Amino acid sequence: MLTNRSKVVSKKEMSLSERLYLPAIASGLSITFKHIFKKVPTIRYPEQKREIASVYRGQHVLKRDENGAERCTACGLCAVACPAEAITMDAAERKKGEEGLYREEKYASVYEINMLRCIFCGLCEEACPKEAIFLTNRIVDTEYGRNSFIYGKDKLVEKIDARIDVSERQTEKTIEFKKISLAIIICLLLKLRI
Ligand code: SF4
Ligand code: SF4
Repeated sequence: MLTNRSKVVSKKEMSLSERLYLPAIASGLSITFKHIFKKVPTIRYPEQKREIASVYRGQHVLKRDENGAERCTACGLCAVACPAEAITMDAAERKKGEEGLYREEKYASVYEINMLRCIFCGLCEEACPKEAIFLTNRIVDTEYGRNSFIYGKDKLVEKIDARIDVSERQTEKTIEFKKISLAIIICLLLKLRI
């Protein structure tokens, strides 16, 4: 009785209709039938798929520039910004003759994202100063083994003959926002002296 919220319940006799149970069953069935004719909110995935917004944050893409060279310079800012520590990479120096493959002198020889760790927050995209990584409206495939969720460059870099349009993610507002995020990340890094 600490809160004074307890209720005294009385065990009253059941009426005839309550003892028959039929009205209660009929009322229950009427609710069931009401739902049968309602529009079903679920869909038969994967045969049916919902339309996804173009700015949905799904599987990443590593972009190439207009000449087909990889934009990523392995600066590591995306990995530092990633709260889930899902990104790992190895940097390499571009050799003579590889100018068509890699945009700048440094590139990512290995670039991996662990899709099981990723929370699709989009911070890697915001941190990238080279417009090299974007999240897309593609959904990450289901797999049988955990290792298959570690996506390497073979799955991340866009195919030269099947470019992925990310223009909707590059509005003026987004670019401005990215600049601010990048400045914040750089300030934090300087503070932490990484
Ligand atoms: S979307 Fe977020 S969690 Fe996923 S890799 Fe990018 S920064 Fe990390
Ligand atoms: S921030 Fe951009 S350029 Fe730097 S490593 Fe990540 S994807 Fe590459």
